[in-house]
Amino acid sequence: EAAAKAAAVNADTGAPTIFDKIISKEIPANIVYEDEAVLAFRDKSPKAPVHVLVIPKSRDGLTELGKAEKRHEEILGHLLYAANIVAEKEGITEGFRVVINSGPSACQSVYHLHLHVLGGRQMKWPPG
Ligand code: ADP
Repeated sequence: EAAAKAAAVNADTGAPTIFDKIISKEIPANIVYEDEAVLAFRDKSPKAPVHVLVIPKSRDGLTELGKAEKRHEEILGHLLYAANIVAEKEGITEGFRVVINSGPSACQSVYHLHLHVLGGRQMKWPPG
């Protein structure tokens, strides 16, 4: 299946990702929120009227949630709190979804931990 194939070639190698270039502002992104530890910017291929990615500025081994360690607890909480700030800023107060794809079976394609904040339409459950 196409999605599984794409996921397999996008396994976690620990190599730098496109998000490093967004953090360093080498490539442009539409930033909606930023603080000392996290950056939030619009997904280039939005799956909902609001689709924002929230990432840690320092990857620090967090290629995927499945690689999280005890030392990452603070940044993980920070990311989740930032997701709510983004939702408030974007006005999706009637409801929003936060998604983290971790690993090939979840179709993760960029191996720098990121939260998808999705809203502005009715979401369905369960996701595919
Ligand atoms: P998937 O690609 O299967 O959604 P991920 O959870 O790894 O898997 O999501 C990566 C996301 O990053 C995708 O939604 C993709 O559209 C987005 N993306 C990739 N490159 C950029 C970019 N340069 N600017 C903004 N978003 C990007």
